[in-house]
Amino acid sequence: MTRVLCLFRKPLLWAVWLSLTLYTTSVSAQQVPQTLTISRGERLLILAPHPDDETLSAAGLQQIVQAQGGSVRSVVVTAGDAYVEAIQRYLHKSRLSPADFLQYGEKRLQESRDAAQLLGKGFIHLDLLGFSDGSIYTMLVKHWQRSNPDRSDFTGRNHVPYQEAEDRGMAQDGEDLRRELLAIFSETRPTIIVFPDVMENDSDHAGLGMFALLAVHDWLETYAGHSAQPKLLAYVIHWQNGWPPGSSADTAFDFSDQPLYLPDDLPLRNHTRSCVYLSPAQIAVKRQALALYTTQQQAMAPFLAAFVHSNECYSQLKAADSHGIENVVKQWQHVRKTFDLHPLTRRKI
Ligand SMILES: [Zn+2]
Repeated sequence: MTRVLCLFRKPLLWAVWLSLTLYTTSVSAQQVPQTLTISRGERLLILAPHPDDETLSAAGLQQIVQAQGGSVRSVVVTAGDAYVEAIQRYLHKSRLSPADFLQYGEKRLQESRDAAQLLGKGFIHLDLLGFSDGSIYTMLVKHWQRSNPDRSDFTGRNHVPYQEAEDRGMAQDGEDLRRELLAIFSETRPTIIVFPDVMENDSDHAGLGMFALLAVHDWLETYAGHSAQPKLLAYVIHWQNGWPPGSSADTAFDFSDQPLYLPDDLPLRNHTRSCVYLSPAQIAVKRQALALYTTQQQAMAPFLAAFVHSNECYSQLKAADSHGIENVVKQWQHVRKTFDLHPLTRRKI
């Protein structure tokens, strides 16, 4: 998690956003969640916008899948390198240079590596793509082609600059990210795919939710045929109205003996709600893994602690929910012009 492109600041934009979603958006009463069935030998694929989202959303699920003889692959798309206040605190300086942002990004990627090592005892396949923080939504709506990559206002780079990253030098454009995700899907053949909900209140999170649906659509149409029926699980990290409880507190609270359900005002959209339940040992490992994101612990320990609960819950989509997504993206690109007339403010959680 990091910066937020606050799409939902104005009621009008909120209404536009709702009208553009694929789904029936009437807010339904919270559905009673079902317990997610994890079979033996599942292949779990997790998509995370920033280093820490893979653990906040699914550290328990990763352990459960591995305990059942399954495999886990995590893809962290950006380096989370534009969290200005946190970097100032981390480096003890107020004026930051591109080199400072790059140093911080390199450190955050290493934190994801350390957490994956702890969670999977060396058996998690981790892809660190190393894109710029804040680039995902922008690549989707404004920088789709390789000839017009997104350039970070912070690192100054329009390509992946990190030593830790998988494809150093890769251009920061939507088409390349879409192709990269499709290649990962085809290689992994996941039976469970975990990704951010398109309704998330963060531009990178919502944008990656869109890219995930595009990649699911591509993969099922092009390579997987009709036999593959992966479970599609959307998580929420950024919401409004103080969710999750304790995330904005001054000190970190221990909620680990309590369940956390998805926000009541998250539209149901004909999805089902599914949860996994963690053992005390699995909860303890999640807490230990989150402790390894030292830069984020320094910046917002209460926020991270607010995701350590006795369960992890998701909106479960159907494969058909990924169809027609390209039209939605086109509509987004159209609406983006309107957004340009109403400059969006950025704020930090
Ligand atoms: Zn994030």
